[in-house]
Amino acid sequence: MENFEVVVIGGGPGGSDCAIRLAQRGKRVAIVEKEHFGGTCTNVGCIPTKALLSASELYARVREKGKRFGITGEVSYDLKTMLKHMERSVLMSRKGTETLLKKYNVTIIRGTALYNERSFFIKETGEQLKAEKFVIATGSRPKIPSPFRVEGIWSSDDVFNMEEVPDSITIVGGGVIGVEMATLFSNLGSSVTLIELMDRLLPTEDVDVSKAIERALSRRKVRVVLSTAVERLESGEKFKLFLSNGEEVLSERVLVSIGREPVIPEGLEKAVKTERGAVVTNENFESSLPGIYAIGDVRGKVMLAHVASAEGVYVAEKLSGYESHIDFEAFPSVVYSSPEVASVGKKEDEKGLEEGFRSFLFPLSANGRANTMGERDGFAKLITNDKGIIVGGSLVGAHVSETLMELVLAVKHGLSIQDLTEAIHPHPTIAESIRDAAEGLEGKPLHI
Ligand code: NAD
Repeated sequence: MENFEVVVIGGGPGGSDCAIRLAQRGKRVAIVEKEHFGGTCTNVGCIPTKALLSASELYARVREKGKRFGITGEVSYDLKTMLKHMERSVLMSRKGTETLLKKYNVTIIRGTALYNERSFFIKETGEQLKAEKFVIATGSRPKIPSPFRVEGIWSSDDVFNMEEVPDSITIVGGGVIGVEMATLFSNLGSSVTLIELMDRLLPTEDVDVSKAIERALSRRKVRVVLSTAVERLESGEKFKLFLSNGEEVLSERVLVSIGREPVIPEGLEKAVKTERGAVVTNENFESSLPGIYAIGDVRGKVMLAHVASAEGVYVAEKLSGYESHIDFEAFPSVVYSSPEVASVGKKEDEKGLEEGFRSFLFPLSANGRANTMGERDGFAKLITNDKGIIVGGSLVGAHVSETLMELVLAVKHGLSIQDLTEAIHPHPTIAESIRDAAEGLEGKPLHI
């Protein structure tokens, strides 16, 4: 096999963007993929969930809000057509990644990379991979511990193969996947129970976000059970879950979404330093083996496609001799619930804010655009430090996945409250709520 300057292992968003940037910088680069390009995000993550959420959301919106907008008549859905829309979206994304890799002359190697005696090999052909540097971007898989290792239990991967919508589903884990899946199945009319170990949903988000999402899901008849673990599970015609609060829950399906675990190429886990199953790296993403780098979910830190991609680009630039910078204080996260959640930087938790920090929450019920859309649920909440610099923001509401970027730039560049209030925001938009929250922090809110 040809000698490469860099071989990237794994063709998800992190690996693909890393390989493309290396090629753009003139490196001889190859990428190894055992299955489909696009990784978890394209094939069993971001893209198929968002396709199903968009389709089911349209249905649910017409049912819930149609009458108010003067839309009459019965609506129904056809799961097969929804799944076709999902498959088309996945295929577009997968093919798009492959086309870009080819466009930039990245050599594509099909197969499974494994590590043995200080070298990487392709498992299926036995060929040795020769390169000066390797970038491991092999991602993660759903974590399914006992008592959930039972035939018929779903992880998020299985949802995309469903043949019919379950009448009832219990979702274990009220993090990002749990909340998105509870949204999806409640849109589709399933009876949903959502069980979370901690005392609030989305425990890593702002406390006000958790409250808003718990309210929104409860309104959609999702039964939210907090501070509870599943102790035992029996399968039969239906699954029976025995909860730590003494309750027994019966449901047709059980979906486990209690986190993901890194996937390390076979053999490498014995040679490289790991911690809780993840590859340990330094600040330049180099592992304990010189010349072997790791990016994305395999590091077990922030498991987000856009963070993997940023890490991939960072490594590509550094390996090509260019400066690069990653700001982990300002990475955005989005939950595609109804309403959506989008946040960046500091959050307020049960303990409140740090000394000198302040926050202001502006409700969307006072926002003109939200009212015209019939989407009054949600808010914009900003947090400033003791110098009046924006250090975090959490948004709940329609389209906030798109409006968040203003706050990402504010946090990344240390903008002040005044920087936001002096920027003219278009009217009527959901984005105005960000300026309104900033005005609240100034003590001069015009619209509340
Ligand atoms: P997560 O870490 O977001 O949430 C897991 C939840 O399960 C936590 O709230 C945790 O307290 C709870 N939990 C853990 N053990 C439990 C138990 N035994 N019983 C009940 N609850 C339990 O993990 P996830 O939702 O599985 O998502 C995996 C990863 O994928 C995350 O890093 C997430 O950010 C990422 N992801 C991101 C998006 C997005 O960006 N929109 C969408 C899906 C997944």
